[in-house]
Amino acid sequence: MQPLYNPALVALSVIVAIIASYTALKLAARVARAQGSLGRTWLAGGAAAMGIGIWSMHFIGVLAMTLPIPLSYNIPITIGSLLIAILTSGFAISFVGRPAITLPRFAVSGVVMGMGVTAMHYAGMAAIDITPAIRYDPPLVAASIVIAVSASCVALWLAFHLRGGASRRLALARLAASLVMGLAIAGMHYTGMAAARFARGAVCLGGMTLNNGWLAITIGLIALGLLVLTLVTAVFDAHLESRSRQHAQRLEQINADLHHRAMHDSLTGLPNRLLFMERLHAAIDQARQRLESFAVMVVDLDRFKLINDSLGHGAGDELLLQVAGRIEHALGPDDVAARIGGDEFLLIVRRLSKREVAVQRAAALIELLDRPYLVHGVELHATPSIGISLYPDDATAAAALISHADEAMYGAKQDGRNTFRFFTSGTPVFTPERLQFENDLRRALPAGQFQLHYQPLVSLGSERIVGLEALVRWAHPVNGLIPPDAFIPLAEETGLIVPLGEWVLREAVRQLHQWHARGFGALRVAVNLSATQFRQEDLVAAVGSVLEQYGVPPGCLELELTESAVMSHPQRSAHVLTALQRMGVGIAIDDFGTGYSCLSQLKRLPIRKLKIDRSFICDLGYDADDEAIVQAIVSLARTLRLAVTAEGVESADQLDLLRRLGCGEYQGYYCSRPRPAAEIEPFMRDFNAAASRRAAADGGASGMRGVVAPLALRSG
Ligand code: C2E
Ligand code: MG
Ligand code: MG
Repeated sequence: MQPLYNPALVALSVIVAIIASYTALKLAARVARAQGSLGRTWLAGGAAAMGIGIWSMHFIGVLAMTLPIPLSYNIPITIGSLLIAILTSGFAISFVGRPAITLPRFAVSGVVMGMGVTAMHYAGMAAIDITPAIRYDPPLVAASIVIAVSASCVALWLAFHLRGGASRRLALARLAASLVMGLAIAGMHYTGMAAARFARGAVCLGGMTLNNGWLAITIGLIALGLLVLTLVTAVFDAHLESRSRQHAQRLEQINADLHHRAMHDSLTGLPNRLLFMERLHAAIDQARQRLESFAVMVVDLDRFKLINDSLGHGAGDELLLQVAGRIEHALGPDDVAARIGGDEFLLIVRRLSKREVAVQRAAALIELLDRPYLVHGVELHATPSIGISLYPDDATAAAALISHADEAMYGAKQDGRNTFRFFTSGTPVFTPERLQFENDLRRALPAGQFQLHYQPLVSLGSERIVGLEALVRWAHPVNGLIPPDAFIPLAEETGLIVPLGEWVLREAVRQLHQWHARGFGALRVAVNLSATQFRQEDLVAAVGSVLEQYGVPPGCLELELTESAVMSHPQRSAHVLTALQRMGVGIAIDDFGTGYSCLSQLKRLPIRKLKIDRSFICDLGYDADDEAIVQAIVSLARTLRLAVTAEGVESADQLDLLRRLGCGEYQGYYCSRPRPAAEIEPFMRDFNAAASRRAAADGGASGMRGVVAPLALRSG
């Protein structure tokens, strides 16, 4: 009994084989790039798609054969042959996904895969319920095995070498390879079929006969559909993957820029105070270990203000650039120069075997800076006054070294400028005004002179006030209300910040408890923590006990920390922050973008929110750089699943832009200045009531709405 073949179905089977091969090549590339559970998912999906593809090719090939008798199939064996196909495909794809492959491994894999394909084929044939059973012609069976093994080797080799890259040439090569592979698989199949001998007068025992043509077309279509679906998913997924890779690269880049900006002076490119402090701490550590000494110098230009005022800022900037250039020129390889404001520079000068070396270096610097400058065609003279303090003779702590150098610099100015002075312990450390101020500050807490003002945090989605930041003020008996920037640094220096910070936390939580009781159910309060406070051993316990005392849910408290406070001791920070997070307290990074932002460390910390510093917001809409930075911070936050608050929003235009950039929350004078508790409460009521009214009036169309200005409610 000689079988006949339906040419259309044969063609269909070859097409399925080619497309299955193409899918396999595409997936091999995908599996090679993916890792972890994603890789396993792709492997499983790919194996199923490719296995079903190869198996349908085979099954359509069998159905393409017509015998004078109707055929039926044993279902369990048929399913078994499908499983063999899937396992074999999984094996092949995972082989190709390996980073590197040795020749013996390659040969073994080719044989295993070839045997798998052969097993699938003959199992599929065994599923035909025919009596007497099919006999096989041994030389042709051997030929089919040889073809299967060599086709598998070729297929694995091609797939392994064509898996990476996305160039047009590779795509063409992949297309050609799938043609070769498809034809080879079909070749193996039809050789195997040719090996089959059907006995004359054989009959099919199975009760069910099928219409071969329709079954083949149905299986063919299902297989093709599946393969195409897999292909489209792989292509789409690869596209997404490459987009998110680009995105991550851009973020890293912007992060690096931010970092650089945060650490350097924008005019001269020299390190700024932040970076200088870092270097100074490092210098102290090193000098302590090696028993060396070094000098800190403060360089201030005499009469710079005069030049700036009379010749304009352009000339002033140009002069500063030239001065910075000369200072850099005068530095040794281990020295550091920073610009820390207007016309003031800070230097670390190392390798001082004795004091005289510092004298020589300072004298040389004066000589260099004293030479005339040519600025915008005009010859200028800008003489320096230099103050010097020595480690370890004058001080061993960074802050003291700088303040001593500073005092010595004032001494140099008094001594007639264009000169340098060393710090002498006779230099008065504190002016009487400062001493008075410090004494006042010490008395302020027991005297109850501190107050908290509250500034709203507004959700850009609901346009409601969802939180308040507590900001401390000092009601000085003589000088009136003093803003925090004027006394927090001194409080830090003197350690007063610790009791003050405790008071702020307690007062803010107490007030929040009252508001919760008065109907502001989910209101949050944000409290600023200084770096010193953050370093206190008992911080976590203190926060816990205050929350407990007033029965305030920890989720309603947010602690704001600056990047530098968090990053100065990343390990300890992670520990403390995790403890706070476990308690349920939220952590926000304050003034984000201005400090030491290290993305990889930030990622590891349990932070809830970033607050974009207001310096990036104030020029929003005018400065394209700022817009790019805000956009980058928002997408950074989205990647890290953090909330974002924009600080210092003063206009509807800024708000509109922030809304478009996808920012979640804002704070700023546009909504309200910080106000005392008694004032903020009615304000909050009115503001949120107005938001509710707008939402009700808008109905479902709120998504289409532009900026709704809370003008009627804004404070003056
Ligand atoms: P911050 O935490 O970044 O607080 C925001 C500051 O920006 C507040 O200044 C606020 O009045 C001001 N601000 C808000 N909206 C706008 C706006 O639209 N435009 C402008 N130009 N400014 C706006 P404030 O109250 O003077 O506080 C200054 C800084 O003092 C705070 O910056 C914070 O770092 C620190 N501070 C305030 N209270 C405390 C406290 O209790 N403890 C500690 N450790 N630091 C505090
Ligand atoms: Mg803050
Ligand atoms: Mg801030």
